[in-house]
Amino acid sequence: MRGLPVILGENPFNPDGLILIEASVIDFVERYAQRSIASTEAGGILLGHRKGKHLHVVCATEPSTADRRSRFRFQREIEPHQTIATQAWRQSGQKMDYLGEWHSHPESNPHPSNIDLTEWKKITSRASECLVFLIVGNANEHWLGTGRDRTVLIANRVVSG
Ligand SMILES: [Zn+2]
Repeated sequence: MRGLPVILGENPFNPDGLILIEASVIDFVERYAQRSIASTEAGGILLGHRKGKHLHVVCATEPSTADRRSRFRFQREIEPHQTIATQAWRQSGQKMDYLGEWHSHPESNPHPSNIDLTEWKKITSRASECLVFLIVGNANEHWLGTGRDRTVLIANRVVSG
């Protein structure tokens, strides 16, 4: 699907709502795909716009040096990513918003772990709106979901390349 402007998913919480992800965002997060045995999990936040019922992801942050990364675990430090989110929000005239989270998995057909689901429950319980969650697999297949009120559902499997 590379080359197309957006990756589409339907929001399971909102039948008419689409999740749009710019191909440049997929290209960016795939740079952190765990293709080698030694590579560690990576992650960051997703930034973009809420347009009516639709969620449009236009940017992702890279892992910060403060994040704790291992083969099967990624723990994001809130502060560096939050700073970038706040800057983007200011610079965009308050149009670019925090939309969710991404991280990599060392598997070709990625699924959320129990740790992921526990973490996402916490994140969605603090958010007032629907959030996007993306797990980047190591073979151009990714898991895309949305969450609200402690529930996260799969929206699509994204195949690229
Ligand atoms: Zn995970």
